[in-house]
Amino acid sequence: MAGICFNKQPLLRDGISQESPKRAVLRIVQGNKLLVSPGLVMAGGVAAVAVWLAALFFFDLIDEADLLLAGLSGLAGGIGGMAMTLWQNHTTRHDQEYIALQEHQAKHDPLTGLFNRNALFAELEQSIIRAKATDTVLGVLFLDLDRFKVINDSMGHEAGDDLLRIVAERLEGTVRGGDLVARFGGDEFVVVCRDLLSEQSVLAVAKQILKSFAEPVSLYGGAQVVSTSIGIAIARPDDARRSDDLVRDADAAMYKAKRAKSGFAVFDEVQRLQVIDRLDIERDLVTALAQEQLVVFYQPLIDVSGKRLYGFEALVRWNHPTRGLIGPGDFLDVAEETGMMAKIGELVLREACAQAAVWNHLSPDAQGVKMGVNIAEQQLLDGNFPYLVADVLEWSGLPPEQLVLEITENVIVDHLAGLSVLRDIRDLGVSLAIDDFGTGQSSLGYIKQFDMVSTLKVDKTFVDDMSSGVNRAIIEAVVAMARALDLQVVAEGVESEHQVKELLEFGVNIMQGYLFNKPVAGDAIDPSSWFSARSGQLLAGEDGAPGLLPAEVNTAFTRTLDHTRSRPKRLG
Ligand code: C2E
Ligand code: MG
Ligand code: MG
Repeated sequence: MAGICFNKQPLLRDGISQESPKRAVLRIVQGNKLLVSPGLVMAGGVAAVAVWLAALFFFDLIDEADLLLAGLSGLAGGIGGMAMTLWQNHTTRHDQEYIALQEHQAKHDPLTGLFNRNALFAELEQSIIRAKATDTVLGVLFLDLDRFKVINDSMGHEAGDDLLRIVAERLEGTVRGGDLVARFGGDEFVVVCRDLLSEQSVLAVAKQILKSFAEPVSLYGGAQVVSTSIGIAIARPDDARRSDDLVRDADAAMYKAKRAKSGFAVFDEVQRLQVIDRLDIERDLVTALAQEQLVVFYQPLIDVSGKRLYGFEALVRWNHPTRGLIGPGDFLDVAEETGMMAKIGELVLREACAQAAVWNHLSPDAQGVKMGVNIAEQQLLDGNFPYLVADVLEWSGLPPEQLVLEITENVIVDHLAGLSVLRDIRDLGVSLAIDDFGTGQSSLGYIKQFDMVSTLKVDKTFVDDMSSGVNRAIIEAVVAMARALDLQVVAEGVESEHQVKELLEFGVNIMQGYLFNKPVAGDAIDPSSWFSARSGQLLAGEDGAPGLLPAEVNTAFTRTLDHTRSRPKRLG
């Protein structure tokens, strides 16, 4: 437990700039204590009585009884005065301790005892001034624990709290005495490294911290490996950034480290532009939703051995007024961070279901064709999500069997505890697919949940390099497991005929990729040619080998992202 001088910072620091009015009053009283001290009064009183008694004694005016009485009253006065002095000292100390405690609580996080966010900014501001004065380098490290939510959800909040305390202790044990450790909030921590002579020293601290995380943490008897991603912002003495700029930049670098799974990443100039970009995107996205600038494209999934169109995947795009057509990779992160993902997800779900229902209406062959819609973590966390799905199905008139919700493997694993939402969705008759399968955490603990899932979409990374023995082994294992569990396997990102042949040899029949078609706008899909292609013309190859698409369909299939089309008409 943190003592009163936790974090190597003196509680009451000198310096007028930090003094509160209450403390100023206390200082003045303390400074003048001797003038008003009851001890002094007592001493004066005793001296006066002594002088008076001496005078009377020398002039022989008193007897021994008077002398005794006077002595006793002097003694009583002395004891009383002394008691008053002790009491005053005690209350003053008590006040001091109370004020110190208040100040400590205002600056520290109650769970870990580390500096809190407010204190961090105040301390960092002082550190920036000092670094400039002493011509030294300052490093700001922003840490975010990886998969903290999984521990919190699966082991309970107490285990989560324990983990945060352990992490705080490890960080404190790793950094140097003059450095500062703060809890920024949730599972985020900030370390400020001061008085450094070079930028390399900041990286050394980051490596040291990562090393300290390598040792498993003991939580409720079990050993748990916890990792963290660290973003670093380095301020040289001539850097003009303020405390909030540095923390923001370190945070942005942390995202980079997390995405790259690189442990740590340093914020650089390119990223600075990206941050500005990000802010623009955040602002424009609000308008995009209001002005219906988001559009849905569709990419076909082909059943290569059945030579038919198996389904589509709905993929969102942003028809930005000045930047042109933007892919989801450039704005979905921002949408997730700013809480806009649920709205975007609902829009895509409605649009895709309405589009599939329109196709059903226009072509009887479209009726068995699946429509895959990606579902983000934020949507799954909403207990009302199954009601939304039911509502959209009713509104659009799309049969539930045609809808497939795609959920990435990591999101499924992270929400094992909250899988009732998935069960509710399955009970509606809607299928679930695990997207980007194989890229998630190696935990197969969630395999028992596969009864809710109908499809595994093998990630493009495995399809890209099937010459690698490891990738081949993974695809083989996935196909064998899917067979055993009666799941459909879809290969993502198929770009060459060679890949088609190899995938067929593995027993994977359903494929999605640029070889067949890039995603296209809904009205680029002509139901009369696309859906009749299901009856065999689509992939008519010679001698049993998979053929590519017939010329007229191929033209429609190979429209690229540059084709911005109007949105499909909605039903109802
Ligand atoms: P995903 O669900 O795995 O979608 C497949 C992505 O691979 C799409 O990228 C698609 O255009 C791309 N792709 C397909 N075939 C090929 C190929 O042969 N080569 C290459 N290089 N790429 C191929 P896109 O549209 O950029 O989407 C990226 C990701 O964004 C999606 O990955 C999905 O996770 C997410 N996403 C897209 N739309 C939505 C949406 O409406 N909601 C949510 N939550 N996520 C979405
Ligand atoms: Mg997908
Ligand atoms: Mg995918």
